[in-house]
Amino acid sequence: MHYPDPVLRVRAADVPDVTGEVRDVADRMLELMFDAPGIGLAAPQVGLSWRLFVCHVPPEDEQREETEEPGDTAGENAVAPPLASTAGPMVFINPVLSDPTGPVEWESEGCLSLPRITGEVPRPRTITVSALDREGKPFTLTATGLLSRCVQHETDHLDGVLILDKMSPLSRLRTRSTVRGLEKAAGVR
Ligand SMILES: [Zn+2]
Repeated sequence: MHYPDPVLRVRAADVPDVTGEVRDVADRMLELMFDAPGIGLAAPQVGLSWRLFVCHVPPEDEQREETEEPGDTAGENAVAPPLASTAGPMVFINPVLSDPTGPVEWESEGCLSLPRITGEVPRPRTITVSALDREGKPFTLTATGLLSRCVQHETDHLDGVLILDKMSPLSRLRTRSTVRGLEKAAGVR
């Protein structure tokens, strides 16, 4: 589904039960994501208003070594260090984000639902996400770097939010005619 399809603009509903059908959808979404190719895909992007997304951020995609900030992650509770990549393809069902930390960083993002559009989007460096996995088992992880950006971008999709809503004024100006083109092609305006 491409912008401005309305399914991209509504808040998606919780997945009540992780059934075989949900698993099939997640598997199909992973195929579509790899074909695209992309590092993340949310259910509304394939026309399903479900709180579900898939992602795969291989370590090679890490832009740089995350520099350790003293006192930042070496916390009071011995929690697992934040991950900047995934060990393999991951499924997130009914994800809930919490604890945004670190500086807000502006980075260029694209979106499979917004062909030919990229823009600078601000996001906190680190985020914690709790979700159900493909088997319906709850898990929590703390993401940083590109994985954090991917998790935040895909969770935005579940709330009907697109990079268009968050990008810098300059990016907005630069992409204006391309956005208009997508709206025209869809018969909007
Ligand atoms: Zn997207």
